Amino acid sequence: MHESTATLRVCALYPDLMNIYADRGNLLMLERRCRWRGLGFALDGAGLGDALDPGGADLYYVGGGQDRDQELCAGDLVEHKREALHAAAARGAVVLAVCGGFQLLGHSYALGGRTLPGAGLVDLRTVRADGPRLIGNVAIELAIESRFDGVANRVLAGFENHGGRTHLGPGVKPLGRVLRGHGNNGADGLEGVRAGNVIGTYLHGPLLPKNAWFADWLIATALRLERPLAPLDDALEDLAHADARKAAGL
Ligand code: GLN
Repeated sequence: MHESTATLRVCALYPDLMNIYADRGNLLMLERRCRWRGLGFALDGAGLGDALDPGGADLYYVGGGQDRDQELCAGDLVEHKREALHAAAARGAVVLAVCGGFQLLGHSYALGGRTLPGAGLVDLRTVRADGPRLIGNVAIELAIESRFDGVANRVLAGFENHGGRTHLGPGVKPLGRVLRGHGNNGADGLEGVRAGNVIGTYLHGPLLPKNAWFADWLIATALRLERPLAPLDDALEDLAHADARKAAGL
């Protein structure tokens, strides 16, 4: 798609319920970085009971949530949105799910004697163990590809706070490797999940304001741009990223 005519269409799933740690900041970041470049930006939401249009967005977003909010959403996700989400992912749309949203991308989230179903978009399971919540600043390293720059090693920095421990199925790729912090389960050194354009991560922060490069990667990937995004003055964004890395001890 050509940059001057492109509009990034974003659909936020459960924008009221799955929205903690300023997840809205991630959406604002996408909007600003589009608009600053003259790209269009359109935000839609799909709440409880709403059908999801599998062709309606370039990027589907699911934010974090408390266990009780996840409980409200899980059944609805399976009943009203699962199929459309699979279809969207199959046509290459970006799916970005953070923390509670990440947990709901998998098969299940087992907590306190009950098991919430997930979208089954990636082979992973989450279990709420008895141990302490995994909380703190976190930094991960990932190899990320771009059609213009090839593959580069980059760092994402953010903040995690989750009781659930997520385990990826055999052969499933993480988003990155933990440099500092706990990651998916505090044990295997893996963080998040990456299956094509489907991405899950425990990094709040919010994630994108602390990692502007990743916001741009998402925009360019979702829009399949034919040329690199125009550079922006990222002096403040670079400071935010440096600060988040420092907070994580990197
Ligand atoms: N409720 C989930 C957990 O505690 C996710 C929390 C979150 O989104 N921060 O594991």
